[in-house]
Amino acid sequence: MKNDSFIITCEHGGNRIPSRYRSLFDGHEALLPTHRGYDAGALRLAREMAGALHAPLYVSTVSRLLIDLNRSLIHPQLYSEATRKASKAVQQEIWQRYYLPYRTKIETQIRQAIGCSDRVIHVSCHSFTPELDGKVRDADIGLLYDPGRPHERDACHRWRASLKELDGSLRVRLNYPYAGKSDGITSAMRRRFSADRYVGIEVEINQRHVLESARHWRDVRRIVIDGFELAMAPEYA
Ligand SMILES: [Zn+2]
Repeated sequence: MKNDSFIITCEHGGNRIPSRYRSLFDGHEALLPTHRGYDAGALRLAREMAGALHAPLYVSTVSRLLIDLNRSLIHPQLYSEATRKASKAVQQEIWQRYYLPYRTKIETQIRQAIGCSDRVIHVSCHSFTPELDGKVRDADIGLLYDPGRPHERDACHRWRASLKELDGSLRVRLNYPYAGKSDGITSAMRRRFSADRYVGIEVEINQRHVLESARHWRDVRRIVIDGFELAMAPEYA
């Protein structure tokens, strides 16, 4: 039986722009409340998931349009159209204030947890817009992982199975709407930690569920969390 520890993160939890950088957003304000600005509902899910698992939680409530914490430093969308035009000095300051501490804290937490458990299961919580560029996305929940890492593949298959068991109407897709291997915080951590010790998963919730009634969204969160706990229960390992 594996002695797992858990860490929950939320890179796109809010759409706050610190006052110091607000002028960069003149003319771009309309983007902030949209899916471009933040992942609606993801923060709520991350908090409740961390609470249920008694797991450490790392969140950002600063908009991804300032700097995207789920992109690597060389990614062309690390900075958005609002911050791309800022001077190198300002970009460097933003990176140092928001990106570097966030990434460092998470990496340190994973390293410490690996020191006292067999595996660290990292769940990074996100949500996606129901329609992008005129295309409707046909999933309720996406589970993203690296198919080359067996622990990640097994965990996501089990999570999908338990979600189906709890609510057969939910459409759960693997590596959808994005590939788990693509650029992001989990792929960055995979480069630092071995496949045996680090299990990085991104959960993506269709924002259709977040925007429905409060009761519906609460039920979906509960199913996602219960499903994860069921999938991670020792008797399944
Ligand atoms: Zn996201």
